[in-house]
Amino acid sequence: MFENLSSALQKTFKDLRGYGKLTEKNVKDSMREVRMALLEADVNFKVARDFVKKVQEDCMGEEVMGSITPGQLVVKRVQDHLEELLGGAHKDFDLTGNPASVMMMGLHGSGKTTSSGKLALRWKKSGRRVLLVACDIRRPAAVEQLMILAGQVGCDVIGPEPGETVPMLGKRAAEHARNAKYDVVIYDTGGRFQVDDELVQELKEFSEFTQPKNRVLVLDAAIGQESVNVAETFRDAVGLTGLILTKLDGDARGGAALSVHAVTGCPILMTGSGEKMEDLEPFYPDRMASRILGMGDVVSFVEKAQGLIDEKEALRMQEKLSKNQMDLEDFLSQIQQMKKLGPMSNLFDMMPGDAMKMDQKKKDAIASASELEMKKFESIIQSMTPWERRNPKKIDRSRRLRIAAGCGRKFQDVNQLLKRFDQMGKMGKQFKKMEKRLRHLKKFT
Ligand code: GDP
Ligand code: MG
Repeated sequence: MFENLSSALQKTFKDLRGYGKLTEKNVKDSMREVRMALLEADVNFKVARDFVKKVQEDCMGEEVMGSITPGQLVVKRVQDHLEELLGGAHKDFDLTGNPASVMMMGLHGSGKTTSSGKLALRWKKSGRRVLLVACDIRRPAAVEQLMILAGQVGCDVIGPEPGETVPMLGKRAAEHARNAKYDVVIYDTGGRFQVDDELVQELKEFSEFTQPKNRVLVLDAAIGQESVNVAETFRDAVGLTGLILTKLDGDARGGAALSVHAVTGCPILMTGSGEKMEDLEPFYPDRMASRILGMGDVVSFVEKAQGLIDEKEALRMQEKLSKNQMDLEDFLSQIQQMKKLGPMSNLFDMMPGDAMKMDQKKKDAIASASELEMKKFESIIQSMTPWERRNPKKIDRSRRLRIAAGCGRKFQDVNQLLKRFDQMGKMGKQFKKMEKRLRHLKKFT
């Protein structure tokens, strides 16, 4: 997502940065390009028009035009306005109340049930007792689906009893959650293929019966501009406190994410980036803005890594790396840590620079090639003796042959691993370079 928009904007800004002094024409020309890029990303045309107008006004002022690095200031202004467009400050769920309550709404297939499971897992991990309530009584498979997800994430779930209507179920569930002292109750309601009066009536009634503090609309990013209409309808009918945008891992152009807050005024709380229960991230407008502008979402990347990687281990590794003391034992442990971060193609999206500019197919190809390679390396190291792992430079030909036979890989594979490991010693230099680049970037913010 955002790949095309991102590369179009970056190209525009590259041209801009080249000018020593900006003219009104330079600014206007680049803003026209920004507007085109937004429209191509399926951003609502009013949103695109207003956005460009605001940035342009902002940039025509003395401060920008008279500065020594006007191009850079324009980029900064675009980033600020983009952040505002996406919602400004990060907003979270309101988890106060005994219990806190969340009503999930949306069209069929938008990802309500999946996101309910994801939220349950997230809050369970933060030490809360979560109750899931299966309220989609029209589709029997939907109740079962939530039961399975609840089993997977390890939290309680209740569903409809024979003859119970949705509001009756809601009322019973709310009472049960209060009496049994749950911290959070999540209602997974039923959807429709389109918004209709019956659905609206049902949701209104449900909302009155259960009084949920969080009324959340789940939107599939792939439906693009249509998401804006859906969100307006739900907002006007039931009242929304926030949005969850799903399927950001797909090839949607991103228009939904960029328009929906501006049009509806509802904050995007979370985004879904996959089918697994871990694939849900809090939404930070500032990070998303820098990701779109190609600065990479370094903060999210680091946070994700921190959550999954043992910090002490990481520090130990860093020290070894800088002193050039890594051995294959460490390399193996690194491969295993990497695996915890999940599919590599997800990580690409968070990285700064060139990774963003690749198309999805290329990213997937690279990701699966590296995953295969890591698997290969893992199996090879596992068939080495402890002495060999500690002394990679001393692994001679006959040892290489034995290792290859031991893990059913080729002799060349063992060579490749040892070569790759050797190259890692040179990585310390790369880190220094990256640090320098970051410092350079900071100067402009
Ligand atoms: P509901 O009808 O709104 O309850 O939708 P579901 O939760 O059943 O989801 C519909 C389909 O979308 C399922 O196959 C989910 O696995 C899938 N899905 C949900 N969220 C995401 C996401 O963020 N990314 C991807 N790739 N698939 C998702
Ligand atoms: Mg469902």
